[in-house]
Amino acid sequence: MKRRELVIVGGGPAGMAAALAARAAGVEDVLLLERDQHLGGILNQCIHPGFGLHHFKEELTGPEYADRFAALVHADPGIEVSLRSFVVKLGKDRELSYLRPGAMEDIQAGAVILATGCRERTREMIPIPGSRPAGVFPAGLAQKMVNMEGWIPGREAVIVGSGDIGLIMARRMALEGVAVKAVIEIQKTSRGLVRNVVQCLEDFGIPLRFQHRLTAIHGADRVEKVSVVRVDDDFKDIPGTAFEIACDTVLVSVGLIPENELLEMAGGAVDRRTNTPVADEVNLTSLPGVFACGNACKVYDLADSVTRDSELAGRMAAKYLGVPA
Ligand SMILES: Cc1cc2nc3c(=O)[nH]c(=O)nc-3n(C[C@H](O)[C@H](O)[C@H](O)COP(=O)(O)OP(=O)(O)OC[C@H]3O[C@@H](n4cnc5c(N)ncnc54)[C@H](O)[C@@H]3O)c2cc1C
Repeated sequence: MKRRELVIVGGGPAGMAAALAARAAGVEDVLLLERDQHLGGILNQCIHPGFGLHHFKEELTGPEYADRFAALVHADPGIEVSLRSFVVKLGKDRELSYLRPGAMEDIQAGAVILATGCRERTREMIPIPGSRPAGVFPAGLAQKMVNMEGWIPGREAVIVGSGDIGLIMARRMALEGVAVKAVIEIQKTSRGLVRNVVQCLEDFGIPLRFQHRLTAIHGADRVEKVSVVRVDDDFKDIPGTAFEIACDTVLVSVGLIPENELLEMAGGAVDRRTNTPVADEVNLTSLPGVFACGNACKVYDLADSVTRDSELAGRMAAKYLGVPA
């Protein structure tokens, strides 16, 4: 089995920041494994501005923010980037297996940093009753379709959940000429940033209905309408407040789940409720020499904060490896 000093899984902002910080701390050999064909992670589909205000003191789009780090990573001779490389196995002693085109590789790592990001919660996890027509998408998937593939998911949309992804997609769909009929939020306040409520909804005249929930999605082949009701402070439906909204698309933005299946596979402790590593400090896991950073460690609002904490993860890994400071 080939030996590598530090292996980082995931080439989003977390993995790239950790790799650069580990190198700056003296680690000589870093292997950065990314299953996609580009570095950058979720930032590649976030073409809106709002990144970098803290780290770069200027406002960048997601791809611009990612590109600045990718350029530094590619220029560093001590970092080997392996794209289209999907890590499928992690053992408790930091032995890893990954698939790359045409081969399966096994390696033994001195230290591992998991920077695997998050996946989206789906319709089934809330759940919303009704039929199963086409036209229901997780909001982040719809963002990838619109911004990277050039597909518009529908013409009349309702968005469930007012977190940042839902808010940003409301504006994005409106900019593409889609009629965004409403954002439906069961809570009393938005989970998203205030600036996103103002810039993505208020500036576009998109109604945000707090303390409402979807009771059904209707449609045979394609979504035709949704049923909505107002709820009280205990989330109980208020009689006489039900109404319907005609639409052909429902975007579901109801949270993210940290990706920690590799950690679990290696026997690391994972919190069942949040799917985050169980540990006393940020970036640590219960396994010696295995670190987790970025959205895999906890769900962050800002990429800048991901960068800051992931740099720390790179330094923690260097310390674990006994690299002289
Ligand atoms: C829609 C949306 C809008 C946002 N807007 C803003 C904003 O305006 N401003 C801001 O500062 N932040 C924003 N954020 C937050 C910010 O983008 C994230 O916090 C940040 O991208 C998380 O970085 P990460 O590296 O942890 O995860 P990711 O960017 O998700 O990267 C994880 C990487 O790991 C790879 N990976 C996963 N598993 C494996 C495996 N087994 N093998 C190999 N590779 C693997 C994935 O392919 C991916 O490239 C937004 C996020 C979203 C989703």
